Amino acid sequence: MPSLTVGTATAAPGTRARGVIPVTNLPGGRPLDIPVIVLNGVEEGPCLWVDAVVHGDEPEGTLACHWLAAEVDPATLRGSLVLVPVLNVPAFEAAQRGNPLDTFSYDLNRIYPGRADGYLTERLAHAHSQWLRDVASFEISIHSGGAHSYLSETIFTTTDPAAIELAKAMGRGWSLILKNIRPSGSPGAVMHEAGKPALTVELGGRSATSPQDFHRCARILADGVLNVLRHYQMIPGTPTYAKKWYTGFQHALLAPASGLFVAEPGLAFQQRMPQGALLARIVDVYGDLLAELRTPVEGMIFGLRALPTVQTGDWCCFYAQLEGEL
Ligand SMILES: [Zn+2]
Repeated sequence: MPSLTVGTATAAPGTRARGVIPVTNLPGGRPLDIPVIVLNGVEEGPCLWVDAVVHGDEPEGTLACHWLAAEVDPATLRGSLVLVPVLNVPAFEAAQRGNPLDTFSYDLNRIYPGRADGYLTERLAHAHSQWLRDVASFEISIHSGGAHSYLSETIFTTTDPAAIELAKAMGRGWSLILKNIRPSGSPGAVMHEAGKPALTVELGGRSATSPQDFHRCARILADGVLNVLRHYQMIPGTPTYAKKWYTGFQHALLAPASGLFVAEPGLAFQQRMPQGALLARIVDVYGDLLAELRTPVEGMIFGLRALPTVQTGDWCCFYAQLEGEL
């Protein structure tokens, strides 16, 4: 069992190591790095790679990575676990979706595999994807609704059987597995091109960062990763699975008017709804109705706008049109 190196972190068998993947320097002279935690096991096996904060306003995965680094014991690990607690550091520092220092490649999740001689964020994507492609057997990117929305437990992946197996390995509570028909521009696209499975998992958002909610989301995310490790027999224990899995694709329901977005108070995530059901009303500053938002087809909501102020064309609801069970 050899040592495992990612960036400046080298972990001997049975140990943890911390380091960074260097990218470049910022104008003030500080380095732009990607922090990385490497847990190297004691037995040959696959490498699970977890990325948090692809988007800077989605820190649920960071807390989950901190817990995973402490809870997974490299002395009983088969294979290895690589944790990137904060991928897009400048975006995280600004608590914004993208790096505010970068105008032309603001959204890190749209520009993979990046470019060695490209814009700032493209260089970060390039440095990350080189290590990811070489080291990872499978990858999980942890996202949430960020500043704009709350998302319930949802997985996006390809229709590749190995990717579906990885999605099902997230365990109990992760029953919605939506198709990402073109997984272009994300870390998962790099993995897909290399013939290796990857997931985008969603849970949380800034509307759910009260102490209890933030812990709840991070716990569910960390438990999902632990369940994946059990499923692939990388750590001891019996994995759990959802009772059934639904598949389908996402409808983005956009605001038909600007005003105050008032969702129906009884809305429940991941419950079947008929076509034409009322999701929300948009009212003006006097309280008069401007528009209604209704379900476009039979399906279920898996995410909802968090900010009541809404502009025409803003994202209001993450809606799943179901195609059946997996
Ligand atoms: Zn995101």
